[in-house]
Amino acid sequence: MSFTGTPSDTFAALTFDQKLDRLAEVSVKIGLNLQPGQQLVLTAPTEAIPLVRRITAHAYKAGAKLVTCFYSDDEAVLARYLHAPDESFDYAAEWYHDAIATAFRSGAARMGITGSNPALLAGQDAGKVSRANIAASKASKAGLEIITRHEINWTIVACATPAWAALVFPQDEPTVALGKLWDAIFFASRITSADPVTEWQAHGAVLKARVDQLNSSRYHSLRFYTADGKTDLTVGLADQHLWAGGGTHAGNGVYCQPNIPTEECFTTPHRDRVNGVVTASKPLSHQGTLIENICCVFTDGKIVQATATAGEAALRKLIAVDDGASHLGEVALVPFHSPIAQSGILFWNTLFDENAASHIALGQAYSTCLIGGETMSLADLAKRGANESLIHVDWMIGSAAMSVDGITAAGKAEPLMRAGDWV
Ligand code: ZN
Ligand code: ZN
Repeated sequence: MSFTGTPSDTFAALTFDQKLDRLAEVSVKIGLNLQPGQQLVLTAPTEAIPLVRRITAHAYKAGAKLVTCFYSDDEAVLARYLHAPDESFDYAAEWYHDAIATAFRSGAARMGITGSNPALLAGQDAGKVSRANIAASKASKAGLEIITRHEINWTIVACATPAWAALVFPQDEPTVALGKLWDAIFFASRITSADPVTEWQAHGAVLKARVDQLNSSRYHSLRFYTADGKTDLTVGLADQHLWAGGGTHAGNGVYCQPNIPTEECFTTPHRDRVNGVVTASKPLSHQGTLIENICCVFTDGKIVQATATAGEAALRKLIAVDDGASHLGEVALVPFHSPIAQSGILFWNTLFDENAASHIALGQAYSTCLIGGETMSLADLAKRGANESLIHVDWMIGSAAMSVDGITAAGKAEPLMRAGDWV
């Protein structure tokens, strides 16, 4: 593992608890920009308790009215697959998702802590996994819509866990692997400089300049291609699409950073104007199943052929969830020389891997990536080409071999990326 950036001496000299506290502080102040009087709803794996306690403390110091955390436990999730009756898998705790949506509507901020074992369900029945995911997606739809419309300030941060670390660093002893994963998270989350708040502001400004440039170009479509022909995909952009990246002004007026880390500029593709072939550049870890070497052919926006060398059953189940699951809802550009890509680590976690490479997402589009989209009806969003689905799953297509052209309405190709980096 080698990083191009070196943590400052001051960061290296901190104890682990101080580093954890720095991550907690940045997630509350930069990620959420939590406002005095706001409630905060957290979800986290049980291994994240030390991080959650620090986040909770910083949230109250920022003036939070009440902080509530819902924990999930990998072992308990697995117990369901091993012992629950079959009908369990078509059920989700609606009351729980309703409560979270109610909290959002009453002005709460939302923080998700990711860190569960990405391979937890790899050996379980793909049908049960898919049914449970569909049930959960349906139950959480109302709350998720508030998130995808950015009505409230929200963010996702990561917590290293032993099972996740073992997957990322299989060669190492458990404690060494855990330490390495923490170091990678701290580095990728841009909290290792002497002044992370200022660094985040500068990083946000760079992303914003790129977003402004893409927005003023008004491309009709993007073409992704590699010399070996494994990818040659034209992604039409939705009518009156908007590029986004870095921070977001949420509907409640709060400026937040929805992902820590974030390196992407993203927008909404047109659901019916995607054509060609695309090959994933990294494996996809989806709800506990690892899907490797995905290759899809798109015709008029829809996947007409999908293969994978591992996890193909899970891939097929995923794109069959509903009509929108076989269409794109996001396209994102990430330079191959982002700090995360430079680390050379495959994280098996979308929050990190999607910020290491350009990517596309199957399923639900972000209405905020359309001019005036936040207040548009579902029918109007669809007219602009925005996709609707119960799922939103990102997978990586960018690499050092990737070229990207912006295609103007007149059909002229302008180079955007070469060898995986901005031109
Ligand atoms: Zn993305
Ligand atoms: Zn996405």
